[in-house]
Amino acid sequence: MKSYFIIIFSLTITFCSVDSDGSNISDGTILSDEEIINESTSETPNDEDNSTTSYLDNREIKYFIASTVSNEHQEMLKKWVAISEELYFTQPNVVIENLYPIYLVQLDRNNSESALALEPVYCEYLEEEHKKLFIQDSYDSSRCSDNEDSREDYERYGLFVEPDGRIAHSQISSSVQRDGYNLFISKTHDLPEHASSMGYVTLHEMFHIFQNSHITSTTEVDEVYKLLGRYSGDNPEDDVPWWQEGAATYFSYIDYARTINDMSWFKNEMECALLCEFDSYGNKSRLEILKETGVKLNNITYGGNPEPINKQIGYEIGAWFVAYLVNEHGEDKILDIYSLYDEFGFEKSFEMQFGKDYSTYLEEFYEFLDLPEDQIMKILSSK
Ligand SMILES: [Zn+2]
Repeated sequence: MKSYFIIIFSLTITFCSVDSDGSNISDGTILSDEEIINESTSETPNDEDNSTTSYLDNREIKYFIASTVSNEHQEMLKKWVAISEELYFTQPNVVIENLYPIYLVQLDRNNSESALALEPVYCEYLEEEHKKLFIQDSYDSSRCSDNEDSREDYERYGLFVEPDGRIAHSQISSSVQRDGYNLFISKTHDLPEHASSMGYVTLHEMFHIFQNSHITSTTEVDEVYKLLGRYSGDNPEDDVPWWQEGAATYFSYIDYARTINDMSWFKNEMECALLCEFDSYGNKSRLEILKETGVKLNNITYGGNPEPINKQIGYEIGAWFVAYLVNEHGEDKILDIYSLYDEFGFEKSFEMQFGKDYSTYLEEFYEFLDLPEDQIMKILSSK
């Protein structure tokens, strides 16, 4: 009987956070059911035409807001969600049916009590909406489930609060193919100093929903990952962020800059991503770490990297790889590739779009990274 429950419990964890300093807002208010903000703006489908033509036809976003999140944060979140939808959910090959519903959980980075209070409210909703009797379903495979196997996973990562008491990072924590919904956990960033993070992190996570939507050929999480290029390291069992996260990071940076009409923001962010020295890397830059360790970009994993490598190097230098491709082929080639995955898989799709296999392209990219800094910076788009 027990084996019946041993199904995949790992969730799609697409981490992304920019740590901002915490001011202490800590009144520990508990959220009641009535305070859940439910914003559903589905429009009536067109009777004459059954095919969905716009994301607006399917638009269903349900917000779960921790009680200590400020109105200002909520407004920013909703603004950037709407901007992301306009940018990504209008792309020609997006699979609209997989974009919604989005369950958008907004947590207060400085208040774990309000996050803990929100979790049972969310889980109850999930149980009502998605639990199917006698069938292993998305509720069972989420961390809301209270069976032994999910609990084991839960002890490593909480749903809204980590076991060590930290608030969960911003992430897409579901697989739409398996679960039938997109769970977007968003963590606040301190205002006003980290207002930009509220923008580009929201763009980043919404870009993941866009990417993931394209897979329609399987409901198996591992298969979805494979199609998305997440098993593209030398060890095909490693889950690697460079490609999937690199694209989300690149577009979140450039589209944030375009939206605020300041392309210098993009250039500064990209420059720092590569060249700024950080304490955590022993006062070295990500580029220095990459070169000194000789680790290949596509071998950096989400977890379990040898010090001082961490997944953030995969994200940020991955974004540079995408910038490198964009410089040669344009952004549409990146935005279009997802629609090829179902039929051709990641490797073949990459070759079709960019004319070489990704390993060859990565070798060229490493040579590019040996150029003088001003030459490297030159490839970044100014518009
Ligand atoms: Zn991500």
